[in-house]
Amino acid sequence: MSYTSQNDRYSSMKYNRCGNSGLKLPAISLGLWHNYGDVDAFENQRDMLRRAFDLGITHFDLANNYGPPPGSAEENFGRMVKGDFAAYRDEMVVSTKAGYTMWAGPYGDWGSKKYMTASLDQSLKRMGLDYVDIFYSHRPDPETPLEETMGALNLAVRQGKALYVGLSNYNAEQTRKASAILKALGTPCLIHQPKYSMFERGIENGLQDVLKADGIGSIAFSSLAKGLLTNRYLNGIPSDSRAAGSSPFLSAQAITDEVLSKIKHLNSMALERGQSLAQMAIAWVLREGRVTTALIGASRVSQIEDNVAALNNLAFSQEELLRIEEILK
Ligand code: NDP
Repeated sequence: MSYTSQNDRYSSMKYNRCGNSGLKLPAISLGLWHNYGDVDAFENQRDMLRRAFDLGITHFDLANNYGPPPGSAEENFGRMVKGDFAAYRDEMVVSTKAGYTMWAGPYGDWGSKKYMTASLDQSLKRMGLDYVDIFYSHRPDPETPLEETMGALNLAVRQGKALYVGLSNYNAEQTRKASAILKALGTPCLIHQPKYSMFERGIENGLQDVLKADGIGSIAFSSLAKGLLTNRYLNGIPSDSRAAGSSPFLSAQAITDEVLSKIKHLNSMALERGQSLAQMAIAWVLREGRVTTALIGASRVSQIEDNVAALNNLAFSQEELLRIEEILK
């Protein structure tokens, strides 16, 4: 059945300015790393994307290698854009990245201009788009001059293949240097995409200061710690969960007694606040405007609905924040 989006799609989502730019992003963005590959049911992908858009999620995060197989998430997304979202392209912010292994040989990985440029061309073809809104360097390349990788991002913008550029997985010092190069090229860094959640707080040690100083926005990936900061694992490991599946990024062994005890305490606290643990985890990432948008993944429509409802209670008292620190200790 053809899709027409809900007229009230902008009524409840919050949109935050991304750094010093003119671009606003939804407080919650949807990532297509898992559950959008050729191994996943297309109907479910389509239902999730439609529901997300109807709830005001305008930002969709991809990368060349998302699948499996690598590239298939972009292909599936392209199919949905063509089928459902052709009339809404100007209401969407689409991101892709290059930086991890994509094809064989010396030009299919890392940060050379050769790889980055070819990869973006391939991504555009897979998605059937003329341009992406944001093109990222997915990770820093220790062997390629930073000037070259940033030059490739700048080139993408000059060629009209990307509107903005971003960095992902760069540490504070790498970000400071990259940002200075991009600024000098006239293509300021729009956004940084780091891992950030109650369980992963590395960016609090310097990176956030650099982003603030340089007017760069941020999009926190794995805000739910890949599902740990939800009610998913409270009573064991469901057979349809990521930890039970073949993802090398979350295994059952990661859910130790210590982790589970923290999850249970956090869950009790979330219930006291009248929200789910996933909602509290998202609210925490967004607290005090520390990040522009929380980037979540989802395996079903109900999770997207649950996560967007986090916006109903984003505030924390000082006591609540201290209690979370106690639990996480
Ligand atoms: P999350 O931490 O949001 O984990 C998503 C998983 O949590 C879902 O697949 C689901 O698990 C579970 N979940 C989500 N919502 C709920 C809910 N309300 N209740 C219960 N369970 C829930 O994020 P991801 O790790 O998936 O990463 C999000 C995005 O970040 C990626 O899609 C990608 O775009 C980006 N990313 C970027 C990286 C980078 O290097 N730049 C690296 C990693 C991710 P289940 O499947 O078990 O149902």
